[in-house]
This record gives sequence, structure tokens and C-alpha cells, in this order.
Amino acid sequence: DYKVTGVQTCALPISIASHELKTPLTTLSLQIQMAKQKVDLKNDTAPPPAKLAKVFDDSGRQVVRLTGLVDDLMDVARIQSGKLSFTFEELNLSELMKDMTGRFSQDFAKAKMPMTVHAEENIVGRFDRVRMEQVIENLFSNAIKYAPEKPIDVSLKKDKTFVKIVIEDHGQGISQDRQGQIFDKFERANASSNISGLGLGLYIVKQIVQGHSGSIHLESLPGKGSKFIVDLPLDGTKLNC
Ligand code: ADP
Repeated sequence: DYKVTGVQTCALPISIASHELKTPLTTLSLQIQMAKQKVDLKNDTAPPPAKLAKVFDDSGRQVVRLTGLVDDLMDVARIQSGKLSFTFEELNLSELMKDMTGRFSQDFAKAKMPMTVHAEENIVGRFDRVRMEQVIENLFSNAIKYAPEKPIDVSLKKDKTFVKIVIEDHGQGISQDRQGQIFDKFERANASSNISGLGLGLYIVKQIVQGHSGSIHLESLPGKGSKFIVDLPLDGTKLNC
């Protein structure tokens, strides 16, 4: 088992990583085993299609979760070796936000989170599309994980050469003493929480935002909610090169 010694808090806590990776794998393998047991080759019978469809849906969810975890670990490896690269292109961030809020609307509804969106139209700049999606997806997923059944407010505004994305939830919030660390690798604000995660999402988000020459800040009051504020230059490549 991994032991944190001294100040070396950035190493991979293998015990956490393997627990997070193994949980969906165990569930997946059980689901498949149980379905397989009900397939009787001798009598040529199988569970009814509705039952099988449920097994496929449940298994699919575990695969999505595993894929997300592996992607995050790969991103961290890329960041560590300095190989997180960006493909900047002209991008309408307003359209992207519309797309993302649309994609998440069912998840927010399922989590009983009424959503308000105030987005200026046609904010165009140079961004990496896939990485921007990843930033928004991470912040939305965290809101669902840590602030269910509370409203979520999203806004997108242009200010001269910058764009400001604000994602505010009204959930459990983050205590003052943990606020400085949650953007670090493997840092989780509430270690005893039974909500799963590797503590990598916000670390990756911050690296992506910085790769766009932007910044990310948190304003939070425990019990009241968390407000994540992302400031991005419309053309971060100019500042980078
Ligand atoms: P993970 O969710 O996998 O733990 P993240 O890096 O995305 O990793 O988040 C780090 C920690 O920050 C979380 O474990 C959680 O404690 C805290 N956190 C992130 N987003 C929120 C939020 N919207 N509300 C409350 N706490 C949050």
C-alpha cells in the first residue's frame, strides 16, 4: 500500500487509483457473469431482451466510467511529461456552451438540478475544442456529484479580450482550508466522502485553462455552494508564443 511521506504528496496513491479502477471493473464483471449464468445453451434459452438490455445499459455505464478514469490518468501522464498538447482553432464558445448545456440537460434533470444559462451570443476566439469541452464537462460533472438537487447557474460573458465562464452550484461547498488544494493532483476536499473520484478532474481543468493562458478561481462557502470562474483570453496563443 502507498504511504504519504513528508511533502511528497504528488505521487500516485496506488491504493486510491486501484480502488477507483477496480470498482467499475468488479461491477462490470459481476453483471456479465450473472447474465451468462442465465444463458442455457443446452435448452437454448436466454434471459428476455428487456433483461439483457438492462445488463447492457448497466455495463455500458461502467465502461464509460472506466474510460473516463483511464483518460484522466493518461492526461496526468501527458502533463507530467510535458506532452499535453493543444489544437487551437477558431471556435464559437457560445455555441459550444449551448451544445454542452444541451448534452447535460438530462443529467441535470435526473439530479434534480434546475439550470439557468446566461450566455452571450457569438463569443469567438482561438481555443482547443475538445479540451474546452473537457473543462465544462468536468465542472458540470462535479456540480452533479457535489451539489445535486440544487440549482446550477451558468454564465458566459465577453470582456474586451477575455471571456469569463462562471459555473455556480448551491451544494456542499468547499471549506476555506481546502480551497487552495483542490486544483492539485489527487486532492479531494472531503477524504471520507463516499462519492467516487481520483481527485484529478480539477487538476486537469487547471492545466487546460493555463494551456490557454487563462486562469481558474473558486469562490465557495461551505453549505452554500461553489462558484468556479474561468477567465480565458480570446486568443491565448498570442500570449503563449
Ligand atoms: P474528484 O471529483 O475526482 O475528487 P476533482 O479534481 O474534480 O476530483 O475535485 C477535487 C475535489 O474538489 C473533490 O474531491 C471535491 O472534494 C471538491 N469539489 C470539486 N468540485 C466541487 C463542487 N462543485 N462542490 C463541492 N466540492 C467540489
